[in-house]
Order: sequence, then structure tokens, then C-alpha cells
Amino acid sequence: DYPQSASHAEATHSRPEKNLDPITGRANATLLMLTRNSDLDEAVKSIESLERTFNHAHNYPWIFLNEEPFTATFKKRVATLTNASVQFGIIPREHWFQPDWIDEEKARQGRIRLQQFRGAYAESVSYRNMCRFYSGFFFWHELLQPYKWYWRVEPGVQFFCHLDFDPFAYMMENKKRYSFTLSMKEGPRTIPSLWSTVRSFTSLHPQYLARSNAHKFISEDKGHNYNLCHFWSNFEIADLDFFRSPAYTAFFSYLDGTGNFYYERWGDAPVHSIAASLFLPKDQIHFFGDIGYRHYPFQHCPQGDSWTRGKCECDVENNFDYQGDSCTGKFQALFDEIV
Ligand code: GDP
Ligand code: MN
Repeated sequence: DYPQSASHAEATHSRPEKNLDPITGRANATLLMLTRNSDLDEAVKSIESLERTFNHAHNYPWIFLNEEPFTATFKKRVATLTNASVQFGIIPREHWFQPDWIDEEKARQGRIRLQQFRGAYAESVSYRNMCRFYSGFFFWHELLQPYKWYWRVEPGVQFFCHLDFDPFAYMMENKKRYSFTLSMKEGPRTIPSLWSTVRSFTSLHPQYLARSNAHKFISEDKGHNYNLCHFWSNFEIADLDFFRSPAYTAFFSYLDGTGNFYYERWGDAPVHSIAASLFLPKDQIHFFGDIGYRHYPFQHCPQGDSWTRGKCECDVENNFDYQGDSCTGKFQALFDEIV
């Protein structure tokens, strides 16, 4: 069972900005894309899509990160797509590459094991670097330090609807800290020991568990087993100070110490989702039903009035919310308990 602490002990390091900037009208927020130079065409599609449906009216600054320098061609093509400021950053080596303390032979065995199950990215070390970076390091990058809020954008995604509101302002006004548009279930072979590790962390540090958290989103049996539900983190609008919090940073360090980002293939989506579901009160997690979004092979298409209002280009019937392995219905049921 998850003991629920009397008050959630998470210290907030909120920056002073509680309001939108009176001059720019913006939140203290950035749009973040991690990408390789070789993903340029797909990156351009994503930027064009988010600019056209939202950012042309706001000019939130973009940050591009890569473990290698961006090429001049990359920088030039990206910068022409927006009137906003654009920055390009390199990821420090120690935030990206497989650390020396990882037993490479054990990691190799883990890659082979996952390959036998035909797991996605089974053999990929760079994918593991990426998952670990997005689990524990992106929010420490120097270019992100001035910002409290971020929107994660990946190459090759599509935004379907015109946003007549600012999701960052929505988050601020409604005291939300983590948000999603798609959810689903993780492949169990990629995370065999994640849940037992989470359980030992929470029994060591019960003070980090939020009162009225969303543990019911991730477990059907009061925390004994993980139901594999997670927010699909390729889209994420969130408070960076959540990731920088004592609860989250202690959680990541504990997970990382097992080496299982490499020995298994722990994804940043289950890591973020489990943390948000345990360390935040559930009403600080938000489903952005109005944001039409596609990341192959799934999409969230807004329904009803929201589809009309947004002039959405998606087929309203092509919507993953209540299909297959989506967990969005489960999230909504949980949220409905308190409203
Ligand atoms: P998937 O969505 O799980 O299939 O994973 P992706 O291939 O989309 O990778 C997730 C994010 O990490 C995307 O923003 C990619 O551009 C980025 N990414 C993945 N691998 C690398 C890499 O080796 N280097 C860099 N710079 N970015 C990467
Ligand atoms: Mn992706």
C-alpha cells in the first residue's frame, strides 16, 4: 500500500513569475526539441505545424538540443520558420552517454534479451541515452535554466487544431504542473524491474508521496503491481520545477543507480508518469483534450465542440482516447472523482 503523507513534502522552487509577462503576454516558457541533424525534414514539419496552429500568435522561444553540434543547414532551415527566438544547445557528455560505471557486458546481454522479444529499440544504445536524458537531465540543461515551463516537441509530429488559448497560461491559472494528450501501456519487457525499484524508493521516502495522488492511474491494486499505463511523453507540457524538485531528482537518482536505463530499457514515459502520479496531487495533472496531436502511429483528435472551435484537420473518428491500450479513460474516471 502507498502510505499517503500528511502534506506533500515537495519543495517548490518556483521562479517569481506568477503571471504572464505584461509586455509579451507570455508565460516563462520554452518549446523544446531534442533532435539529430538527420531528422531535419521531420523537425521542420513539427515546427511548421506548431507555429501555424499556435506559436505564430505568441512567439514562445524554441530550444533545440543535440549531443552533437547542429549543422549550419539545420540552424538556417529551422530559424526561417518562426519569428520567435531560437537557440541551439549541445548536451553535456555526462548527461547523454552511457556512464563508465555501467557494466557493458551486462548491458549487452540486456540488449540481446530484449531483441529476443522483438522489443522496439532493443539493440539501441542511443535510444537508451535518449530515455535517460529525458528522464533525468533535460531540465538541467543551461539553456532551460531561465524557464519554468516547457512544451516537448518531437520531429515528425502534427498539431491538428488552431489553439485559441495558451496552454501555458492555462497551466498557470489552473495550478496544473504536468499535462498530456495521449496515454497508453508500456511494453513490459522493457521495464521488468522498474516497479519493484519504484516500490523500494517510495518505502524509503514516503514523504515524497503527494496526498490525493494519482496512484490509481498506474496501479489497480493499491500499488502492488504496475498496470503499465503512462502518459505518452513525446508530447508534454509541464512545470520544469516539478522535474527539478527534491522528490523527482531523488527518484531519478535512485532509478539511475540501478543501471537499468541500460541493462533493461527504461523509458522516460513510464518514469515521468509514475513520478507525476505519485508525487503530484492528481488535480495537478491535466488532459489537454483540446490539443489535436499526432505522433505515429496514434493520434488524439478533439471531440465535439472542441473539434469545431479548433478548425481541426483530423478525422474526428480517428481518436485513440478510448481504444486499445489507451489509459485516458482511466485517467478521466480518476479525475472525475474530485470534480
Ligand atoms: P520514439 O518516439 O520512442 O520512437 O523515439 P524517437 O526516435 O522519436 O526519439 C525521441 C526523441 O529523442 C525525438 O525528439 C528524437 O529526435 C530524439 N532522439 C532520439 N535519439 C536521438 C539521438 O541519438 N540523438 C539526438 N540528438 N536526438 C535523439
Ligand atoms: Mn518519437
